Amino acid sequence: MYEVVSSFHPQAQEDDYMAITCPFEKYIPDKDEMDPCIGHIYFTDECLGAGLVSHELLHAALNVERRFHDNPNCILDDEIGEKEERVAYLLTHFVDQFIELID
Ligand SMILES: [Zn+2]
Repeated sequence: MYEVVSSFHPQAQEDDYMAITCPFEKYIPDKDEMDPCIGHIYFTDECLGAGLVSHELLHAALNVERRFHDNPNCILDDEIGEKEERVAYLLTHFVDQFIELID
């Protein structure tokens, strides 16, 4: 469904992101169907931590809910919006706190 890509996305590098979730829709003309892969998640190796991974996977999960399940709790914007980003950063904070506690 989503592919995790370890190499860094050029746009993320330009915008100074540590990670980025890129949802997409891709039609496969030879098969006359949509590609089951609906996005890529890029991480920088040096910034890989539980909080950051959780943050990006939340974006991916919310996109799946929006696209396939019409989850009314996930209807925010067509793109990653301010509200979703706020929730993702809250999750990052909680996960980082938890990791610090158990580390
Ligand atoms: Zn985010």
